[in-house]
Amino acid sequence: MNPSELEKLPSFMEWQEVAAFVGSKRTESIVARPASETECREVVEYCRTRKMTICPRGSARSYGDAILNDRNVLLDLSRMNRILDFNPDTSRVRVEAGTRIVDIFAAFHARGLTLPASPTDSTISVGGAMGANVNGKDSWRVGNFGDQVVSIRLMTATGEIRELDRERERELFLAVIGGMGLLGVVTELTLQLQPVPSPYLSIDILPAPDLDSLIRQLDDLKERADFIVVWIDCYAKGKSLGRSVIHATRWADIDSDEETRQQDVQRGVQLLATQKKRALAFYRLARPFINFGLHVQQLPFRVFNRFYYWLCSRSNSKQNVELFLEHNFDKSYVVPPPDILCGPQGFTIQISIPYENGRAAMSELLRLCRDLPCPPATTILRLHRKDDHLVSFSENGYSLNVEFHPKKRHLKRMQRFLREFMECGVRYGSKVHLPKDFKLTRAEFQSMFPGYRRFIELKRQVDPTELFQSDMYRRLFREN
Ligand SMILES: Cc1cc2nc3c(=O)[nH]c(=O)nc-3n(C[C@H](O)[C@H](O)[C@H](O)COP(=O)(O)OP(=O)(O)OC[C@H]3O[C@@H](n4cnc5c(N)ncnc54)[C@H](O)[C@@H]3O)c2cc1C
Repeated sequence: MNPSELEKLPSFMEWQEVAAFVGSKRTESIVARPASETECREVVEYCRTRKMTICPRGSARSYGDAILNDRNVLLDLSRMNRILDFNPDTSRVRVEAGTRIVDIFAAFHARGLTLPASPTDSTISVGGAMGANVNGKDSWRVGNFGDQVVSIRLMTATGEIRELDRERERELFLAVIGGMGLLGVVTELTLQLQPVPSPYLSIDILPAPDLDSLIRQLDDLKERADFIVVWIDCYAKGKSLGRSVIHATRWADIDSDEETRQQDVQRGVQLLATQKKRALAFYRLARPFINFGLHVQQLPFRVFNRFYYWLCSRSNSKQNVELFLEHNFDKSYVVPPPDILCGPQGFTIQISIPYENGRAAMSELLRLCRDLPCPPATTILRLHRKDDHLVSFSENGYSLNVEFHPKKRHLKRMQRFLREFMECGVRYGSKVHLPKDFKLTRAEFQSMFPGYRRFIELKRQVDPTELFQSDMYRRLFREN
């Protein structure tokens, strides 16, 4: 069906042009914004009877076609955003799937609780964080977002609700988490919060002159830090390959009363909202300059990277204290958001690297990136641990996140690079983080994610008519 075949839609559904967050793909879809499970069921029935497909959507912060469903329906859960129940004895909270991460921190952080494995963007929904099984700067320690999920309510293709957890229908539970919305719509989740000594972090900034030093320092820090993120200078060559700056943080043990904590958390939450507005306004205004810098790229980036490394080396061993809310989330505004940074031709890849292949894989992947006419605008490294979800990107080891802003004249070269990069990943047992991807081929996906076969078998059981689909599903999962 398409918009020209006019038909009266329920009040909460309308045809819209929908663009990918990064890149230039544009689609047209019916966007449904239900406010309850009953309205979700209406959408399921509407689509079933018209042979349309459904892609669930949270805050729509995935980069590519994971949240596009051209000529079909996007089920946007952002209106289902209530905190339903909290048990102070177990620190478990039950929320609707559209609840944003920041709303959970606003409600519980001042009580000395945190939601582990939170990604850099505070506005993403818990449903989207679960659907893509996102990771935080603490993921090697606490696992991915899925590890924080105690149970879910899943609406399947028949409109039936199934309650899933690690005991009840364990395999389906493990497949839905990280299942990219392809097995049904999750309407509610119960999450496990964790106690923390204060809303503050103490931060160490540690330079690493090369890859060996980086790996050595990370091995040591893994035992001591609560959060680690590494900025890598992707322009560094020869002996300096892998030159980087490590940000390692621990929860700070700062004694403060409930009222001060409340004020600090409120300030942090407000800061997130105002900083984001300001940063986006600034980046929109500065877009021509940013684009110019990215266009010239090599020289300004080389200079900036050297300067940043030098600056951080000088502040070696200096410890800062910062609000967790500011450090974990706000820092994402220090660099332009991915849509501006990558531009219409650009893309991001976050690729996991098993620990045992760390040195070899990182050297090869960094060299492939560095030898491009337009190396990545940013290169970030994180630490991870393996989990038991069927479609999971996490390995015991690392992930590299590279953001590219290629020029038109380099597009052919970038295509070649992509295949070389992915081939190298397959060889080292790497996997690509799906919510940021729109470049993998089906063959690459199938080599990287052997669990996809069992995933497809499960999908045939719970969704035999393939009601739940996305453009990504048709690109990667579906056998033609
Ligand atoms: C600035 C920025 C920083 C980021 N930082 C990180 C990071 O640090 N770590 C990381 O891992 N990712 C990161 N991301 C990616 C982002 O966290 C993921 O794409 C996340 O899934 C987005 O959540 P969302 O609510 O926008 O979900 P969406 O993008 O709308 O959906 C994500 C997936 O989940 C499915 N889904 C959504 N809701 C449901 C539901 N209720 N039931 C079933 N399936 C559902 C969708 O179909 C889709 O496949 C970042 C993104 C941005 C823009």
